[in-house]
Amino acid sequence: MSTFITTFKEGNKEMKQQLGGKGANLAEMTNLGYPVPNGFTIHTSACSLYQRDQKLSDTLKNDIKKHIQTIERETNKNLGSKSNPLLLSIRSGAEISMPGMMDTILNLGINDEIAYELAKKDPLFAYDLYRRFIQMYGNVVKGIPMEKFDKIYDSFDTINTDSLLTIINDYKSLYQAETKETFSQNPYHHLYEAIESVMASWGNERAVYYRDVNNIHNIKGTAVNVQTMVFGNVDEHSATGVCFSRNPSTGKKELFGEILWQAQGEDIVAGTHTPLPIQSLISKKPELYEQLHHLVYELEKHYKDMQDIEFTIESNRLYLLQTRSGKRTPQAALKINRDLFDEGIISKKELILQTNEHDISGALHAEFNIDTVNLATEIGHGMNASPGAAVGRIAFNKEQTLDYVENGYNVILVRHETSPDDIQAMDQAQGIITAQGGMTSHAAVVTRAMGKPCIVGSNDIKINNQNEVIIGQKTYQKGDYISMSGTTGTIYDGKLVLETQQKPKEFDQILNLGNKHQTIKILANADTPKDIKTALLYDAKGIGLVRTEHMFFDEERIRLFQQMILSQTSEKRKIALDKLLPVQAEDFYNLFKANGSLPITVRYLDPPLHEFLPNSPHAIKSLSDDSKISVVDLKKQIQRLQEVNPMMGHRGIRLGITYPEIYTMQTTAILIAALKHYNENPTIQLNINLMLPLVSDLKELIIMRETISKTIKNYESKHQVSFNIKIGTMIELPRACLIADEIAEHSDFISFGTNDLTQMTLGFSRDDIHSFIDDYGQKGIYKNDPFKTIDTDGVGELLKIAVQKARSIKPQLPMGVCGEHGGDRTSIIFFENIGMDYVSCSPYRVPNAILTSAKIGFQ
Ligand code: PEP
Ligand code: MG
Repeated sequence: MSTFITTFKEGNKEMKQQLGGKGANLAEMTNLGYPVPNGFTIHTSACSLYQRDQKLSDTLKNDIKKHIQTIERETNKNLGSKSNPLLLSIRSGAEISMPGMMDTILNLGINDEIAYELAKKDPLFAYDLYRRFIQMYGNVVKGIPMEKFDKIYDSFDTINTDSLLTIINDYKSLYQAETKETFSQNPYHHLYEAIESVMASWGNERAVYYRDVNNIHNIKGTAVNVQTMVFGNVDEHSATGVCFSRNPSTGKKELFGEILWQAQGEDIVAGTHTPLPIQSLISKKPELYEQLHHLVYELEKHYKDMQDIEFTIESNRLYLLQTRSGKRTPQAALKINRDLFDEGIISKKELILQTNEHDISGALHAEFNIDTVNLATEIGHGMNASPGAAVGRIAFNKEQTLDYVENGYNVILVRHETSPDDIQAMDQAQGIITAQGGMTSHAAVVTRAMGKPCIVGSNDIKINNQNEVIIGQKTYQKGDYISMSGTTGTIYDGKLVLETQQKPKEFDQILNLGNKHQTIKILANADTPKDIKTALLYDAKGIGLVRTEHMFFDEERIRLFQQMILSQTSEKRKIALDKLLPVQAEDFYNLFKANGSLPITVRYLDPPLHEFLPNSPHAIKSLSDDSKISVVDLKKQIQRLQEVNPMMGHRGIRLGITYPEIYTMQTTAILIAALKHYNENPTIQLNINLMLPLVSDLKELIIMRETISKTIKNYESKHQVSFNIKIGTMIELPRACLIADEIAEHSDFISFGTNDLTQMTLGFSRDDIHSFIDDYGQKGIYKNDPFKTIDTDGVGELLKIAVQKARSIKPQLPMGVCGEHGGDRTSIIFFENIGMDYVSCSPYRVPNAILTSAKIGFQ
């Protein structure tokens, strides 16, 4: 075996890192005895070397030559031979599939003489092959714009032998004009240059952007597959096609795909020709359909996943050119996994491990409100390539898209067809519509993976120019609003109303299975009854954080709260707080009612007080009128409360220390609510936890704990009840981590506020980090945004110390995380590893967190 080359006979599916996905699977299929044209794979590591040296080494070239000679022996064809030419395809294939991002060259090996010889049998085929090769080689290897070739080709009304010969000559002249060299006649020269170009395409702009968007950073290059050509365009019994073992939009088990007779692979993927559904093969070539059907489902069983297969039929013989796990919509992904489990193809463990967190969140995408659909004006229809709904302004290209997005508008990208160059615009748009192309066109495949709505191949759409499109009967300009449903394929005039759709039934089925295997417990952060309902719908095991400050932002309450803040004496403050008490009590009651008997953790007021005071002249005047404080005095008071570093200022438990009456009012409101809830449901087991934020010292905790306990005791004895309320601490400061043993002694539980802990440990402001964190990422200083994924080296170490210290005092002390990291997969795994009992995250992240937790259990 060569250091950098593995033949299809030598490889297998486990060798993706070396051979890329395509190469490894071609090898696997070869060894399963499937009809795969002969070939070999140049390793990804050779691509890394190429990136360094910018050329192939002589040793590698020799190796390539030796492997070509082996193919020549095995196929009885020779590269460069006139009588029996070997023609090759050169295709990229990285470890992780990057559809269409890198380059491919087909029909390599042809030149003037070979074309002439082949033409003796079939001139149309031979010359078409040659003109395709010059075009692809000129474009990919020499960078000649495709439009220049297209312009020549399109200038001929009919394509026959004569016109093809003229086209070939014109192509060569174009080649000469653009490159200042004549088109080489040496196939080995072509071969090496083609391999180099495919390797170089790893670094092209669109591939780099794709890797960035998809967070693919740890792989070094693409493999290159050199394979004997089979021809889907050789005669009328030849075709090229793509098919999936399940419908990638709905997940339904059916052979789903497209076939294009007398064509080559790129014709179908580019979306430039509209192909026939794969089912048309049943009547046209029943035996071939049977064979394809059989092979596809064998492959699906073998790979234990839905497959996306490229095939070619050459004169009635079927060849497989690629198999890979098919991209699919989130809804389809859940259905497919669930069905594979039901069909006995995957086990429960495989089902859980194979279900992707993106699909769980993606399955909840928006659709139009049905009433607005009934009133809306339908303007056109296309193929429903990727589900979901979107509303936005029409943009026709990348520049327009980025311009609108920058100015805060949603965009629907409208194109003839998309190409990999459009990836950035597609990423930024809310939805994509293409006038041409089928269900496996670039736009369809890419948007499905993005979980973005897409409509393709619509006769109702005619793009006039870069700024105008006719949809149905109406002409739209760039910037006009339209709405689209990728679920039904319908385009509407103007703006429709979006709403979150029903989740598919497989969503609950899979999560229920996962739920039983949860390791670390998943709770939710929720501030309103609505949040709590969402959290419970997704099976959160309780509420791990209620941020009480959000209750004060309502228009009527903010006034009462502002009066409380502006009170100069404790008595006056008490009067304002007395007015707030029933309002807060009602809020807590509604929360408890929505939550039932699950654990609920309420946090005392946390933010600096000045956040509640106005700053615009108009708002200050209005508060002055209401509170009977002069504007001048009010401004002075607001200024007095301002802090240079409010996040490190008078907030959290510090507010409780200086204004204990605020925390006492909150405690009383909770007790009133608890009693009301209890009186209405006497059998209910209340499970209320009260939490003190931003503790830095033991004495703070002891003082506040005493104040709160006293209020609880008095209330309970007055009302002859016992609520068994627990009082715990948030750890959000490095110092608190280091004294976690002392804190544990005086806490019934500890919840780590990793948002503040990250801010205070790294010294990064959680509100301003976006101004420089991208630079840090690009320079490799921090791999991830530390506010999204826990910084294990720093913040993580502090957490470890705190958990160990706390457990050394109270081995059973409940501990968890309620910062944003609680919904992040990598962070959840870390928290479970260091012994946390739970994480609490926003309601929509609960399903993902449950899945992650179950995966940990299975690994
Ligand atoms: C935290 O700091 O992690 C936390 C949960 O509190 P907040 O985000 O409200 O400051
Ligand atoms: Mg905090």
